[in-house]
Amino acid sequence: MSIYEPTGRAREYSPLALNYFKGCDHGCLYCYVPNILGRYDSKYNHSNVINPVDFSKIEQSAKKMRGCEKQILLSFTGDPYCNSEKGETRKILEILNFYEHKVSVLTKNPKKALRDLDLIKSFGNRFKIGSTLTFDNEKDSKEWEKGASMPNQRLTALKKFAENNIITWASFEPVIIPKQSLNLLIEVSDFIDHVKIGKLNNYKGIDKQIDWSRFIFESVKICREKNIKFYIKNDLVIHNKGVYLSGNEINQDFLNL
Ligand code: SF4
Repeated sequence: MSIYEPTGRAREYSPLALNYFKGCDHGCLYCYVPNILGRYDSKYNHSNVINPVDFSKIEQSAKKMRGCEKQILLSFTGDPYCNSEKGETRKILEILNFYEHKVSVLTKNPKKALRDLDLIKSFGNRFKIGSTLTFDNEKDSKEWEKGASMPNQRLTALKKFAENNIITWASFEPVIIPKQSLNLLIEVSDFIDHVKIGKLNNYKGIDKQIDWSRFIFESVKICREKNIKFYIKNDLVIHNKGVYLSGNEINQDFLNL
């Protein structure tokens, strides 16, 4: 339970990360975590959140990494504001703030994160909050992400953070119904600071039926027209056919704190 350097696809989100929940009760059908952790434990049950958080170990790690100046993402093996969370994330934010770290939170429940707005404000520009935006309607969201907050709740909460001068971002990964992702991109354009755009990977053949080059063309067009800073993830960018992308738009570290 220490701050670490992620690798592979996860590295595209942040140079550092901290995982403290094992499991998540958001129940996303496409969740990548059971496949990864199941390799080490055949009985792994992702819906069972195990959270005896070792705060002293986290504090040791935060102290050791003090002054590293690199953004820490919460988190990859679970959602920092899942339904089972009972204040653990606030305590961790207090530790990370004390040691003056830069923190990026990614959650499908930013509404719950508003509980910690006072603390989050005290980070100043060392903090940003993002949410994964997948569907533009409740029906699809309930089918695919049954335990997570609804699309409108995510948008409303992100907007509230932005109104409070907190840096906001959105993760468009996975993209399951491109038209819905494009609708959401337009919806956040008035207030979001930046977006990271990926795709759906290896899920029941659905990803094979999507025209990803067209999706790149349309999403980049919206970002440029609406003046949204963006990063196109490696899995998606290999499908690019002719859309000019600047070095920053394919630089995984460009949008870090
Ligand atoms: S919120 Fe993230 S960790 Fe939780 S089930 Fe969904 S994809 Fe998995």
